[in-house]
Amino acid sequence: MRQLEKYSIGIGDRFARQGKAQLGALVEAKKLGVHLVPVWNKSYREHTIVHTDPATVRKEADEAVGALGWKDSYYVDADHISLKTVDLFLDSSDFFTLDVADYVGKSAQGKDIESFVKAHKSVLGSLSIPGIEKPLSITEETVRKTAEKYLLAIQEAGKIYRHIESKKGKGNFITEVSIDETDAPQVPVEMLFILSAIAREGIPAQTIAPKFTGRFNKGIDYVGDVKQFEKEFNEDLAVVAFAVKEFGLPSNLKLSVHSGSDKFSIYEPIQKALKRTGAGLHLKTAGTTWLEELIGLAAGEGEGLAIAKEIYRQAYGRFDELCAPYASVIDIDRSKLPDPAQVARWDGKRFADTLRHVQSNPHYNPHFRQLLHVGYKVAAELGDRYYKALEAAEKVIAKNVQENLLERHIKRVFL
Ligand SMILES: [Zn+2]
Repeated sequence: MRQLEKYSIGIGDRFARQGKAQLGALVEAKKLGVHLVPVWNKSYREHTIVHTDPATVRKEADEAVGALGWKDSYYVDADHISLKTVDLFLDSSDFFTLDVADYVGKSAQGKDIESFVKAHKSVLGSLSIPGIEKPLSITEETVRKTAEKYLLAIQEAGKIYRHIESKKGKGNFITEVSIDETDAPQVPVEMLFILSAIAREGIPAQTIAPKFTGRFNKGIDYVGDVKQFEKEFNEDLAVVAFAVKEFGLPSNLKLSVHSGSDKFSIYEPIQKALKRTGAGLHLKTAGTTWLEELIGLAAGEGEGLAIAKEIYRQAYGRFDELCAPYASVIDIDRSKLPDPAQVARWDGKRFADTLRHVQSNPHYNPHFRQLLHVGYKVAAELGDRYYKALEAAEKVIAKNVQENLLERHIKRVFL
């Protein structure tokens, strides 16, 4: 079976131009002793918005790996796919993120729930899980409630998994189950039975993406109670380790943190937890590489800056349209957005300072950053004009991309 390494990082790249710079960050990390493998991910949503297909991601990954002589594993992730969208990704991907969040809260058939409850008779009562302070108290009611909320979702994941397996062959791809885009975080008991359901469905999941407490907005820092996050993250690690042994799940099963780029305030607790437990991690970044392109364009003044301003002007005017697909993962206060007429007078440094995620810079504006993050559709519409500008600024952009990934992300989480 293909086995995902202990540490992996999902690197999104909207326009598929920065693969080499991204991989360059991993090459540098390796020199520092961090063994980390890349997973290029692009979701169906992104492909639809910029009119690309999964083959372009495979091509980007293969080219970057060839150019840099990368000898370790690398993967191409069919990110957030469902039974409806998976077929498009079958040829290009060897990593599949099965998104079944839409099925959470919808009940499976009564007989399936009852047999699930029956199968867990032996764990009723008080269950001690190493790493969790208090024993979990499990009643038949807890099992039934959890099954009612999650069993149908995991059954759906089973359907998607078996569909992929029938096309690609057993053991030839990595499977992730994601339930992160739901309303409430999963408590330890729920995680436990979700993992049991995954095992019973025969899904050899190597990563699982739960919903964590707090807001994981695209491209900006974590918003929430860091202490509570730390507690829940540690509990999830404990449940995963327990479930691997108890239910016979793949021994390398690990947590996957989605929208994981830029969540600077939780990197320290994550890093501490990985060190303490020896657990692995998949950190999926949210495609903010394209913001490094914008920063590079702006900083170069001239046509690059003109393009950056044009993208902002249009994004500002098309706020509702651009934000709609991301409504649950952004928080933009419109009153904090600078007027495009004012932005038009900025120099490149001011634009870059406002966009770059350096919180200590007084010009940094998370609202501006989030709007531009979802504004990649505008850049896609500029087509050749955008791509030509990228080529002209290639050196500066590559440096930004690599530095952002290595300094602000990899070093803080994995080193
Ligand atoms: Zn996700």
